[in-house]
Parts: sequence; structure tokens; C-alpha cells
Amino acid sequence: MSYTLPEFLAHAVALEQEAADRYLELADMMEAQQNNAVASVFRDMVRYSEMHRDEIRARVGATELPKLKSWQYRWRSPPEVGGEEGFDYLMEPYHALRYARGNELRAMEYYRDVGAESSDAEVKRLGAEFAAEESGHVAALDEWLARTPRPSATWDADPDPLP
Ligand code: ZN
Repeated sequence: MSYTLPEFLAHAVALEQEAADRYLELADMMEAQQNNAVASVFRDMVRYSEMHRDEIRARVGATELPKLKSWQYRWRSPPEVGGEEGFDYLMEPYHALRYARGNELRAMEYYRDVGAESSDAEVKRLGAEFAAEESGHVAALDEWLARTPRPSATWDADPDPLP
């Protein structure tokens, strides 16, 4: 997984785009449940992801990005949702926030590992910088989780326990 700079940037654009898409779905879901506070958290995250994607694109400039090879980073589906069918629209705000947090943590680890494993100085630098940005998103979601009541109904399994 030692990316060249163009490979790194191509993956980063895809990662931020996917985050924006997933957050938009989560925001719509929370709005359908009339939870506007949590919906607006997710709408903020949509904006951050799009801003980050656009910053990366600006850095790319006229450079031709390579096609993605096998892509190790993807948002995981929540445990109750199988395959491509999308989210469970009964998902509680607490679970939605936990789900988002789990994916932010994975994004952070992804950037961190890619940066650490690369022999390209710029990929190293950007990997560390983007990982720090994702840590900030994890922290923001943690603050929201602390304020969000934990639902009494349990999920079947909790694949992503808080550390
Ligand atoms: Zn993020």
C-alpha cells in the first residue's frame, strides 16, 4: 500500500466523496425522524467532506489521477443492514452517530497507515495531516454521543465498540 502522490490523492478524493454521500443519507434519515439537531450535525459533516474533497481536487490541479485499484477503504454498512440496500430507516440517532464515528475512525486509521507506509515524503505529510483532520471529526462525534441518549433497544451485535 505504498501509494504514489497521485494514487494517494485519487483515493482521498474518493474517500471524501463517499463520506459526503453517506452523511447526506444519514442527515435525510434523521430529518425523516424529525431529529433536526442530529440531522444538522450530519449536514455539517457533508459540508466538511465536500470542502475537503474540493481542497484535494484543487491540489490535484491538472494532474491526471490514476484509476482506483482495489480500494481498502469503504464505509461499512451498519450491522442490521445487509448488502447494498441502504440504511435501516429506524436507526436511532445514537446508533447513527456511533456508526459515523466508527467510519471516521477507520478513515483516520486509513490515512495514518497510508502515510506511514509510503516512501513519498508528500504522501507521508498529507497522510498525517488528513489523519489529524479525521481525529477531529471523531472528537466532534464523541461530543454529540455524550449528549445523545442511549436507546434502550439494543442492536443485535455491536461490531464497533467504543475504545
Ligand atoms: Zn471525516
